[in-house]
Amino acid sequence: MIPAAKPLVGDEERAAVDRVMRSGMLAQGPEVAAFETEFSALVNGRHSIAVNSGTSALHMAFLAAGIGAGDEVIVPSFSFAATANSVALAGATPVFVDIELDYFAIDPAAVEAAITPRTRAIMPVHLYGHPANLVALTAIAEKHGLLLFEDAAQAHAASVDGIPVGAWGVAGSFSFYPTKNMTSGEGGMITTADDEVARQSRLLRNQGMAVRYANEIVGFNTRMTDIHAAIGRVQLTKLAGWTAQRQANAAFLSENIDGVVTPPTAPGAVHVFHQYTVRVVDLDRDKFAEELTSRGVGNGVYYPTPIHRLPSFRLELDLPVTERAAVEVLSLPVHPDLSQNDLETIVETVNAVAKAGS
Ligand SMILES: *Cc1c(COP(=O)(O)O)cnc(C)c1O
Repeated sequence: MIPAAKPLVGDEERAAVDRVMRSGMLAQGPEVAAFETEFSALVNGRHSIAVNSGTSALHMAFLAAGIGAGDEVIVPSFSFAATANSVALAGATPVFVDIELDYFAIDPAAVEAAITPRTRAIMPVHLYGHPANLVALTAIAEKHGLLLFEDAAQAHAASVDGIPVGAWGVAGSFSFYPTKNMTSGEGGMITTADDEVARQSRLLRNQGMAVRYANEIVGFNTRMTDIHAAIGRVQLTKLAGWTAQRQANAAFLSENIDGVVTPPTAPGAVHVFHQYTVRVVDLDRDKFAEELTSRGVGNGVYYPTPIHRLPSFRLELDLPVTERAAVEVLSLPVHPDLSQNDLETIVETVNAVAKAGS
């Protein structure tokens, strides 16, 4: 079986964890500080604030920037639930809008049409590692006086016009969950150029304290441990090589796959292929997926149910492109540990299943 995703952790990560264990300092400390400094190089030197998950990063970023009750935040429904959960956890209302089919990212025209007097922010998701249309969204945010947040959980080192994701909006949020492009076990990072948002984020993750027992605000404990940061620091040194390998794998798949729609990259965009996601248009996607699995090619559907229709939100909205994507998308293995033989097997199997079904 060729696995759909494969977290790559090796001897260096083990040695880094061992170093922290031997130091006796396990909670947030020097490893977290070093991880933050090193991560900032990915986002044009912005502040980086490490937390215990990507979801916490999104949640803390909203609170730090003053998003709360009565505010509306425009988000895509075609994403992982954490995108909208974080808005709701901040006390605000997620307003779901449709996506563009080619890149599976929020549609700027739909965003503009959804703006009301209560709208405070827009949060695109750089789904599958392809950046959303940040040029158009930045212009809309500026025109209407809105804050731009970025859910960059799947898009470490992606960029548009040479500017990395996480360096566009007031705040970006990254995830280090094991299946993401790099991991710390669990973990997340907030990135921001705004000194006050950075300060508030640091307070929020640590019970509202900058100075011990002098709590300034009501806060959480969403700190990252030094154990996790030590893993993340090693992974960060490998990210560029892994990203190049993901891109090379994706290029090979796109050159050779027939019978399904392969993922394009927008002009000016750098896609980091967290997922390599095709659309199965004339065949039954679920049968296609089962057939691939039975022939040893791992795959995944991200995401079968748009967030607005999940039991947690249950909204009746008309989002036709989102609904279409939900029944057509299928992610194939693209992780950096695939061999040339694996890649050829994926191509042959996908092409055979497409041919047999048509
Ligand atoms: C993974 C993910 C998150 C949440 O990150 P966690 O680290 O799992 O909390 C948020 N948004 C998107 C789009 C994700 O893929």
